[in-house]
Amino acid sequence: MVRQIAVLGATGSIGASTLDVIQRHPDRYRAAVLAANRSVDEMERLCRLHVPGHAVMGDPDAASALAGRLKDLTSTEVVSGPAVLDQLVSAPAVDTVVAGIVGFAGLRPTLSAAGAGKTILLANKEALVSAGGLFMDAVKRGGATLLPVDSEHNAMHQCLPTDASGRPHMANVEKIILTASGGPFRGRTRASLTEVTPEEACAHPNWSMGQKISVDSATLANKGLELAEACWLFDRTPDQIDIVVHPQSIVHSMIRYCDGSVLAQLGQPDMRTPIAYCLGWPDRLEAGVAPLDLVSTGRLDFEAPDMTAFPCLALAKRAISQPGGMCVFSAANEVAVAAFLASEIRFTEIDVVIASALETVNLLEPQSLDAVQALDKAARSAAGQQVAQIVSLNAHQEKEL
Ligand code: NAD
Ligand code: MG
Repeated sequence: MVRQIAVLGATGSIGASTLDVIQRHPDRYRAAVLAANRSVDEMERLCRLHVPGHAVMGDPDAASALAGRLKDLTSTEVVSGPAVLDQLVSAPAVDTVVAGIVGFAGLRPTLSAAGAGKTILLANKEALVSAGGLFMDAVKRGGATLLPVDSEHNAMHQCLPTDASGRPHMANVEKIILTASGGPFRGRTRASLTEVTPEEACAHPNWSMGQKISVDSATLANKGLELAEACWLFDRTPDQIDIVVHPQSIVHSMIRYCDGSVLAQLGQPDMRTPIAYCLGWPDRLEAGVAPLDLVSTGRLDFEAPDMTAFPCLALAKRAISQPGGMCVFSAANEVAVAAFLASEIRFTEIDVVIASALETVNLLEPQSLDAVQALDKAARSAAGQQVAQIVSLNAHQEKEL
């Protein structure tokens, strides 16, 4: 049986790695649905290559443009809109959903897939972080199989025994050790980071990823999101998880058991490994990844994260214990990162925006999708106001100089 895969975020970095693995195993997998936001050129190329039954564009104008380009490709139907995407990921024609949309926009279709009992390959950590309770509930009620693509969580999953539906057994686990690369600015002081550019922030030393997660890695906000992600996926509290900086990104995370054993998963920093693990699970698949050469790697270093130079991690640790705190953290971070990428605010103002949203927004645990969406909206609005204040303050200061 060829498994039918819906690739959400098909034009992104996770989408590209997923489609590369799928292409290596045409006898086992088919990209049945491709979804993206507005990149018409790339989507046209992917549709011609994979001929999915459906191509979904978030942006309706992009959908019309794509439909025009694909008139000759009669077996691919181009559609648009969140309701259509919900239907497609829940339909019997789809077995597995790769959640590779970036940010809060990925929540709704991933929830739908969970409710419909699909196998979910979760890359979109923001969905889980913003609506963890709701999401894990939907997985349980829908009977879905949830497999983590995020390399650290995937490593943890690989180091734990699991049941037939992929749920990890946590008995005798003493600690989870979550590794962090430290990003491109590891070792720098906060004062030296005020003038770094989006290009510098996106130049990750080990991983090639989308812009948003690259900036998140540079601020360490990504590790804060991943801490929350690990708490939900492995039913832990933050104090049961240690964060260790490991600049080579070869050890992707570790599990320490009560007898002192520490199990680690090692591999090249290439997302095709965790994606192939999830697609093949419980089997293994060839992923096109170069073998790990430990001699040329030479050494594996570990150090403590610098929470002073990178306050986002400390902010996240605090937000995790507040009701709805990580929903606000994640939404404010999205707004701040977009403003930084647009050169509206400085790198060191990203955490200022998040802290301000966490202080201003009325925090409460959202109990429904509507409540999550309302909290996300309130956090975006608070963050947007803070960005506007920073922009006007910076403009004023520049005038004075
Ligand atoms: P990316 O920016 O490269 O791609 C994002 C994709 O999402 C694109 O295909 C885009 O079209 C789509 N998208 C954005 N908004 C959308 C919308 N409203 N509707 C439909 N599609 C939309 O991002 P990425 O690096 O591939 O990351 C995707 C997710 O995976 C993120 O949540 C990220 O944190 C997570 N992740 C990525 C990596 C990595 O190596 N890239 C590793 C771990 C986790
Ligand atoms: Mg990660």
